[in-house]
Amino acid sequence: MHKKLFIPGPVEVLPDVLAKMSTPMIGHRGKDASALQRRITQKLQQLFYTEQPILLSTSSGSGLMEGAVRSCTAKRAACFSVGAFGKRWFEMAEANNVPADLFEVEWGKPTSGTLVDEVLSTGKYDLITVTHNETSTGLMNPMDEIAATVKKYPEVVFCLDAVSSMGGSKIEVDRLGVDICITSTQKALGLPPGMAICSFSRKAIDRAKEVPYRGYYLDLLALYDYIEKKDYQYPSTPSLSHMFALDYQLERIFEEGLDNRFARHIEMAEKVRNWARNSFALFADEKYLSNTLTTIKNTRDIDVATLNSALGQRGFQISNGYGKMKDKTFRIAHMADCTVEDIEELLGNIDDILN
Ligand SMILES: *Cc1c(COP(=O)(O)O)cnc(C)c1O
Repeated sequence: MHKKLFIPGPVEVLPDVLAKMSTPMIGHRGKDASALQRRITQKLQQLFYTEQPILLSTSSGSGLMEGAVRSCTAKRAACFSVGAFGKRWFEMAEANNVPADLFEVEWGKPTSGTLVDEVLSTGKYDLITVTHNETSTGLMNPMDEIAATVKKYPEVVFCLDAVSSMGGSKIEVDRLGVDICITSTQKALGLPPGMAICSFSRKAIDRAKEVPYRGYYLDLLALYDYIEKKDYQYPSTPSLSHMFALDYQLERIFEEGLDNRFARHIEMAEKVRNWARNSFALFADEKYLSNTLTTIKNTRDIDVATLNSALGQRGFQISNGYGKMKDKTFRIAHMADCTVEDIEELLGNIDDILN
């Protein structure tokens, strides 16, 4: 039996979106491939609230995260972490011999504008990485506050991990001054895993030109140069299957309407939060709860694996805690094309199993 996924990626993909993955192939050097890429770009610019170029990478989101920190740090990177994925970005910098420092806060707490200001005022850094939505802790960072601070430092390239929120929560890339905003297909966008997307600002382009060793496959400047010169094509063969499905899914997203989509995510989030407050407790600080997933504190010390296998028999799957929080928390994703009714059905089944 297929289990309906309530895990924070990969998410449930609608049958018609999935079917687009089996569209017959076209040549990746032809006019049709250029047109496909151009269409996708225009729609993604609307979704990202940006006029900047859009890059696609046939990798998961981690690919573009690694590419961004390597391609655009000339001096030193400051990596702000509120959980597992923030720390991962720092580890990517280190693994690429990019000078970097990690600024971690206690899990469940946000990156504050004050911390960013303190760090950037040292003048040591020319790139920062920030997590928009931390999938381990279920926390959404206060972007207005962070963005206002970063704007005081025009030399800094602002990289944002929006892997688990883009498409489910409003992120106004240009208004916030984000230079590289990264997401993956398998989370709030509601597609299968295998492609990553980012915006790439003029500042980021100029910075990359100063960096001598940007790698090869994940060199963001190389991707950008190629789509500029070769009419929206890529240096290597992209996953055309994802592009067909993405083109279609973006159309569906605009049919629903962005504001409706974001409101639906908030409604689902509130359902899960209220349930969690009554039955358990929330892990993240109440002021910074994520709209796309909820991390629940396992205050009743239930066996999450047992709960999940009971849910599995009923055709549902949720997620245990991330890494060190494996048994202390569990997570329910409410993103992409999940509905309020799906959430009610899931929570009803959990209650039924636990009682
Ligand atoms: C899933 C996730 C990633 C990693 O993305 P992949 O597409 O699996 O490489 C990075 N950051 C956040 C916040 C995530 O949720």
